Amino acid sequence: MPNSTTIVTIDGPSGVGKSSVSRRVASELMYTYLDTGAMYRAVALYFHRSGIAVDSEKEISPRLGDIEITLFPAATAEDDVGVVLNAEDVSREVRTPEMSMRASTISALPTVRGFLTEMQRKIAQAGKIVAEGRDMGTIVFPQAGNKFFLEADARERCKRRLLQLRQQGRDEDEEKVLTMIEERDKNDMQRAVAPLKKADDAILINTTALSLPDVVKKILGCIRQAR
Ligand code: C5P
Repeated sequence: MPNSTTIVTIDGPSGVGKSSVSRRVASELMYTYLDTGAMYRAVALYFHRSGIAVDSEKEISPRLGDIEITLFPAATAEDDVGVVLNAEDVSREVRTPEMSMRASTISALPTVRGFLTEMQRKIAQAGKIVAEGRDMGTIVFPQAGNKFFLEADARERCKRRLLQLRQQGRDEDEEKVLTMIEERDKNDMQRAVAPLKKADDAILINTTALSLPDVVKKILGCIRQAR
């Protein structure tokens, strides 16, 4: 597969700052930002509303064709992308801690991953893209020319997630958020299909002690150097 200089992948665990970093990198490069976590969240919401158990692949597979997901840019650079699920704006509904956990569970199903991987590759065909998720550099876009893997201490990631939730008007308990982050990481790293892991050719950046502009600067510097 030829190396693609128009695809940038940014992977890493929950709360590491992938979304904020990816949005800014995409905006600087004038690339499209693809939030693949939002797509898993939309699928989780769909099955939650349908009352279908998320561990039953047999029941889930035939319904995937009924799901239509559209992502749209947020009003400000600080906000998450918007999500339309079957013509309904569910931007807020998909961002709850409950939907984070449900997305993590449903993302272990191979048919769900296959369905969304195909959708993500189709979106990327349109052109320049910064794709953020867990398996962007390893599975979805192994040909990407610029791959990054972000990591940070769990406590720091918890602090960042709490801040994000507060900005959305949600006051959550710190220990509860930390437990959920650790549980999601464990699910994401241990699943059999497309587990969360650094691609061999990805650049590792530990963001624990770095500010958002520092991480963005580092990534843009690596991309420019590679060109
Ligand atoms: O990135 P975000 O926290 O929105 O992702 C929600 C969940 O979706 C993650 O915990 C993970 O289980 C799943 N996900 C995934 N692969 C991706 C993106 C997200 O499995 N590429």
